[in-house]
Amino acid sequence: METKEQRVVAPKKPTLTPKAIIHQKFGKNAYYVVEEVKQVCQTGCPGLSIPQTGPCLYRCTLQLPELTVVSETFKKKKDAEQSAAEMAIEKLGIIPETTDLTPQEAQESLVARIAYLFSEKFLISDHPLSGHIRATLRRKGDHCGSIPISVISVCDPKIFSLCKCINPEVESNPFLVLPYVVRATTMLHEFLAISEQHSWIRKLNPYPQDIIESLMEEGGSQECIRVEAIRIPSSMEKHVEAVTLCMSLREYYLDIIANELGLEDDANVLISRNIGKASSETRLFFAAPQSYLLDQSFISGNGKETVHFEGSLNVRARYLSGQDIVGDAILACIGYTRKSRDLFYEDVTVRLYFRMLLGKTPGGIYKLSREALLTAELPSRFTTRVNWRGSLPRDILCMFCRQHRLSEPLFSIISHPLKIPTESSESCFKAADSGNDMIECANGASVNGSPNLSDSEMFKCEMKLLSKCGDVILLCSPKDCYKKQNDAIQNASLKLLSWLNKYFNSVTTPFDQLYETAGNFSIHISSKNLFREILAGQSIQNCQIYAMQCNKSLEPMCENSSLDMLVNGVYNLKIEGPDSGICPANGSLPCISYSVSLVVENENMKEVIEVCNEFEFEIGVGAVISYVEEVVMQMSVGQDAYFNTNLLTSDLIFASAGDSAKILSLLSSKACCVEYEISLTKVAEPPEERMEQALFSPPLSKQRVEFAVQHILESRATNLLDFGCGSGSLLESLLNYSTSLEKIAGVDISQKGLTRAAKVLNLKLDAGVTSKHTKSLILYEGSITNFDSRLHGFDIGTCLEVIEHMEEDQARLFGDVALSVFCPKILIVSTPNFEYNVVLQKSSPPTQDQEESDDQNLLQSCKFRNNDHKFEWTREQFIQWASELAARHNYSVEFSGVGGSADVEPGFASQIAVFKREWSHEDNVKKDTDIDNHYNVIWEWNSNK
Ligand code: SAH
Ligand code: MG
Repeated sequence: METKEQRVVAPKKPTLTPKAIIHQKFGKNAYYVVEEVKQVCQTGCPGLSIPQTGPCLYRCTLQLPELTVVSETFKKKKDAEQSAAEMAIEKLGIIPETTDLTPQEAQESLVARIAYLFSEKFLISDHPLSGHIRATLRRKGDHCGSIPISVISVCDPKIFSLCKCINPEVESNPFLVLPYVVRATTMLHEFLAISEQHSWIRKLNPYPQDIIESLMEEGGSQECIRVEAIRIPSSMEKHVEAVTLCMSLREYYLDIIANELGLEDDANVLISRNIGKASSETRLFFAAPQSYLLDQSFISGNGKETVHFEGSLNVRARYLSGQDIVGDAILACIGYTRKSRDLFYEDVTVRLYFRMLLGKTPGGIYKLSREALLTAELPSRFTTRVNWRGSLPRDILCMFCRQHRLSEPLFSIISHPLKIPTESSESCFKAADSGNDMIECANGASVNGSPNLSDSEMFKCEMKLLSKCGDVILLCSPKDCYKKQNDAIQNASLKLLSWLNKYFNSVTTPFDQLYETAGNFSIHISSKNLFREILAGQSIQNCQIYAMQCNKSLEPMCENSSLDMLVNGVYNLKIEGPDSGICPANGSLPCISYSVSLVVENENMKEVIEVCNEFEFEIGVGAVISYVEEVVMQMSVGQDAYFNTNLLTSDLIFASAGDSAKILSLLSSKACCVEYEISLTKVAEPPEERMEQALFSPPLSKQRVEFAVQHILESRATNLLDFGCGSGSLLESLLNYSTSLEKIAGVDISQKGLTRAAKVLNLKLDAGVTSKHTKSLILYEGSITNFDSRLHGFDIGTCLEVIEHMEEDQARLFGDVALSVFCPKILIVSTPNFEYNVVLQKSSPPTQDQEESDDQNLLQSCKFRNNDHKFEWTREQFIQWASELAARHNYSVEFSGVGGSADVEPGFASQIAVFKREWSHEDNVKKDTDIDNHYNVIWEWNSNK
């Protein structure tokens, strides 16, 4: 098979559209409402103005948490949206990523910006930073009007962008903004005062008295607001703990945080960038190290500044923020908002902290999206979109990149092998708008440009993870091909996510080993960039070591449980309720309700940590923690299961549970364990195809086709008839191979199947795909138990997964008709091996020590794979039928199959017989002159027309 790949050029630095910028910042919190605006035209007749509706125009209202803008009217909805986004960016002072100011120009703009921040106009504006200035102006004495420099550096995005133009390092180390602000401020010494230690800035001349007076009135009530925050000690020995910040609206909140950190001066508080959602105000606050305050050298730098804090690195805070943070830190969500002048705050709980940690790993993002931290797992395989629950792999990958401040991932679609690559079909695109299925090409061309082509092409997807500066961190190029671009993208994304998940959970796996596994995932790593950009390794290990310390109490308690350990890691398993016989099987979608609790045995203590009333997942792809799946596989609908485990890590427990203090005390009890209660409420049956996809790779249907193609190639046949061609999967595939086939025909009894087959073949032929020998293609309608003399004596016949759809006597009749009157040189017949259903439909394959009769019972309880199947044969039945048939008509027969193996019980999943004619065609008594046509031609194609 020849493969033509499209080259993907090195990614250009992508320019983000205004909408993309808004999306990065606000995600789902940005609402676009587009309304039609009827244009009213005046007729040319004076005095008689009859309103007429002109072309429709659109106006877009963009609602953000902080402001709302309304665009002008546009002819296209798209333009109205982009315009609204642009207006919002302007108002918010967000400079698009690609500002092309020179460092010198940026330096000048920075000075101007700082001057503006201390203007009267700014003070009464809706900027969050003006909220800080107003609050400090209400303070008494020395501190009145002094703004900590760290506040200026984090509250104004424009300052950040300008500093980034001066020094791109700012992106990875935002504390570098501080020296630039200091330097710019010193240039404004006639207007601004700066503290000796460079920790605050103040306007020299006071603001007008009337403004100050109105500010005093504006100040809120004395009432105390209790804001929940958490303290992250720098010592790993100490637990993360909840703290309550008690603040009145009259006070400046940073003073209260400074207090909590044991500081007298709020100006010595340093503030991290936003953590978590881009639109939140969750930040880490910590005391500026003494060395930093004394060190003046950083202001005299020459564009090569670094800010390095001395002190004990706070590993957990660093992992959360990606910034170097020293000493104890307070994590709080508090700030001034635009629009409203009130203090905005949200509680940050221990639970939220652990959720934030969890949300940095691919598996964690998936668990959070499913709201099932203690049950869901990132599946190892993507079968179909219909079966996928939770955020889709591509979206998880985008979220992951945002979490780690990487560029949006770059996906390249490679068509394979049917489309000839051209310059314009370059399909490098960004998934900037992950909520949207439409794929935007970086070069503006549409990937789905040719609807005729897209159906018959196969696609591969290659991905790149890039740092914000465009350095390649990872390249993932899986070999698998898909019919749909989206499948290629989702599967490739999942592959990359699975490896990244390993990387994050590799507490015990040495990196060398991980590095090796990357090869199996078709991933190339730049280790230097990986370590720099995606902080996993060391710091998360430490977080987990901490987690494990809490877990000492969860040592295995097997001596307690005399009961059977049917499932790994599970003890005291009880399944209650009558067996309804409706059981989950591989590929099916069971729906459970469950609750998970911490219990202290003997003490009657129980704390529910996670409850879920409706949780559906696909069996066989690792979508849940393995022991949950194993237990569910033993249940039938209507039953309840109870069991205990000791396998949870405490970070998961804290992330799901409410009251952290209570959990901590429970966990420290020796006899504490985790108890699951699961009820199986329903099971969605697996359609045969889905099951075949879920269990076999490549899918069983594809393996059958490949088996047939192999024989066709070897036989050097020139004509072929596909008995029961259905929607033409084999015929279509044949066109991809350069076989020696000149005439290809298919016959089926189903109009519906034939119509689909004709459509598929048309698309392929339109795209110019035929193997070079093919002269004609033809589809017949008819029953394969009937003969058609036009097809007598052809070279090869195929009959894949058809006979079981006929009554058994009809199937037998087909065999005789095929070998006695059609007389192909070779006939390939496949049908399900009923014995294999034990594997497909039961939780575990029969073990060796099980009694023979057990096997029989197990087999008897199996269902057919498809409702339309009239029978499914065991190997013995199939061999008997085929051997007798071959003997009757002087054919030889060999047995084979696909899925599984002949030597391993219970044999192949699909069993196949290959019949070969032992006599030459001339011996045949049947004469070509006997016209006996039972088939109707319903579609035909000839190469020479
Ligand atoms: N061979 C195809 C389709 C298998 S499904 C594949 O491998 O994908 C079974 C097909 O057999 C259906 O399309 C059904 O319409 C067809 N079929 C069932 N009984 C038939 C009969 N008596 N004559 C012709 N086709 C029949
Ligand atoms: Mg079938």
